Amino acid sequence: MLLTAARPAGPYVEAKARIASAIEAARDEILDLSHRIHEHPEPAFEERQAAAWIAETVARHGYRVEHPAGRLETAVRGTLPGGRGPRGSRVAVLSEYDALPGIGHACGHNTMAASGVGAAIGLAAVAGEVAGEIVFLGTPAEERGSGKQFMLDDGLFAGVDAAILFHPSDLTQIEARLLASEDVDVTFLGRASHAASEPWEGVNALDALVLLFGSIGLWRQQLRPDARVHGIILEGGTAANIIPERGVARFMIRSSDQAYFEWMRTRFAELCEAAARATGCTVNVEFSGRSETMRHNRLIGDRYLANLEAYGIREDPPTPNMGSSDMGNVSLALPTIHPSIAICPPGVPGHSIEFREAARTPRADDVTLIAATVAAQVAYELLADRSLVEAAWREFRGSR
Ligand SMILES: [Zn+2]
Ligand SMILES: [Zn+2]
Repeated sequence: MLLTAARPAGPYVEAKARIASAIEAARDEILDLSHRIHEHPEPAFEERQAAAWIAETVARHGYRVEHPAGRLETAVRGTLPGGRGPRGSRVAVLSEYDALPGIGHACGHNTMAASGVGAAIGLAAVAGEVAGEIVFLGTPAEERGSGKQFMLDDGLFAGVDAAILFHPSDLTQIEARLLASEDVDVTFLGRASHAASEPWEGVNALDALVLLFGSIGLWRQQLRPDARVHGIILEGGTAANIIPERGVARFMIRSSDQAYFEWMRTRFAELCEAAARATGCTVNVEFSGRSETMRHNRLIGDRYLANLEAYGIREDPPTPNMGSSDMGNVSLALPTIHPSIAICPPGVPGHSIEFREAARTPRADDVTLIAATVAAQVAYELLADRSLVEAAWREFRGSR
C-alpha cells in the first residue's frame, strides 16, 4: 500500500503526513534492510552485520551514532536533537535484529530492525520543529540474554521518557502481556569410563540429564497454567562406548507472576541438585538473561492504536498466548509499549518456518512501513506535547 494515500489520525495531521512521505520516499532503503537482515540471520550477541547496516543507515539520515553503544558490540544508539532546543522530551524508537539459531528470522526481527530504522528516518524529516531529542536504539540479543538489560545498566536509556517497539505476529495487539523469563544453563560432571569393560567405574552425566528432564516433566503437572519450563540437551556424551562424563542442557523458565517465578527458580535448582545426587554427579546451575513481566503504558498504547487505525489496521481480541521479552525490563524503567501487528493469518506460530517465510512477504513489508510510520507519529505527539509525556509518567508511577 501507499503510505501517503491514508490520512493520518489527528492531532498534527500535517506533520504526520510529512513523516509518512519521508518513510514512503525511503521505502526501498527500509525494505532492502529488512530483506538483507532476513537473508543473513545472526543469533543473539553476534548480530554484527545487521548492527553495521543499521548504524550506517541511521547515520546517513543525520543521527549522531554510537556503535558499539555501551558494553555490547552489536548495540547501536543514534541521537538527533530537536530543532527547538534541548528543553523537551526524549523519545526512543527501538529495533531488534537477532535471529534464532538454526531456523533464522523465525521471530521476524528483520521487520523490527527495518521499522525502527524507518521510524528514525520519518522523525528526521520533522526534527526541526520539535524540542528535546529523538533517540534510536538498536537492541541486540532479545531471543537469549536480555540485551536491553545491559543497555539499561549502561545508561543508554538515561533520560528517555518513552520507548516504542513494534513486534510482528499473527495477531494485532497493542498491549503485550509478557512472562518473566530466565535462561538456565545446567552442567553435570561425572566420570568417563569404558561402557562395556568397566561401566562401574563411570559416573554417568547423561543419566543426570535424563533424570532432570523426567522430573521436570512430572513437575509440570503441578505448575500453574501460565508457567513454562522447556529445554534442550547441548552435550550428552561423545560416543556410545564411553560413559558420558559431561552433560549440558539449556532451559528457560517462565511465569506471568513475579513471586511465583521466584519460587520456580528455587524449585528448578532443587531438581538439578536431586538429579546430581541420584547419579553421583556434580552440578553447576547458572541463571542468566532475565527478562521481566510487562508494564504496558495505556496512554501511549491508546495513541498508538489511534494512529494505527488510520492505516486500516484493527486490533484483534486478546488471547491467552504469552511470550517473553527484555522489553519488559525497559517497561519497569520508563513508559513503554510493545505492540504487535499481524503479518500473516491467525494461527501461524512464532518461531516456526511458516513465520520465518511470512516475515519477508509483501504483507510483512507493508506492516514494516506502517509500523515505522505509526511509531514515528506517536513519538511526534510525545515530542510535541509535554503534557502527554507527563501523563504517561503519572500512569507509570501510579501503576508501580
Ligand atoms: Zn521476537
Ligand atoms: Zn522470538
